[in-house]
Amino acid sequence: MTYNFEKYQLFIATVNKLADQLSSLHKGHMQCRKGCDLCCMNYRIFPVEYFAIQQALQQKPVETQESKEGSCIFLKDHACQVYEHRPVICRTHGLPLLFMNDDQWELSACELNFTEFDDEEFSAENTFPQDQFNSRLFMINKEFIAVNKLDYSEFDLLDMKDLHSR
Ligand code: SF4
Repeated sequence: MTYNFEKYQLFIATVNKLADQLSSLHKGHMQCRKGCDLCCMNYRIFPVEYFAIQQALQQKPVETQESKEGSCIFLKDHACQVYEHRPVICRTHGLPLLFMNDDQWELSACELNFTEFDDEEFSAENTFPQDQFNSRLFMINKEFIAVNKLDYSEFDLLDMKDLHSR
């Protein structure tokens, strides 16, 4: 079955744009490069993300790897084999992320990029607003499930290691 990912792709474009802006803003800290795979784990992702990757795999199959100690099956020789189609979480790797936890704002920043930093350096202007983007993704996924009459609830997440080329 072929799905329409137009809304998801537009959303991905906004994620990429902000991620690029923040990477440039923090370029003095960012060490992210091909070969660093510290963030590459077997994530659970929304169906819209899952099926976008699956559709890409149908068009261009890749050889998946065994998931060792929770590593991502798309990681080969320390590089992502589905980079253009990777899920949202992979697009914000390495950036300072701002999110709400138990009614408190929390900051998550990669220990390799931000080896020394002061919490005071971060603000809404130079961090990725994770909750805001997760809410938008949640709504896009909800519509995707409904439009395609998929047998998932809006809270279901799928395991990336179940993806395969066929
Ligand atoms: S999809 Fe790619 S970027 Fe994301 S965890 Fe897997 S190998 Fe890493």
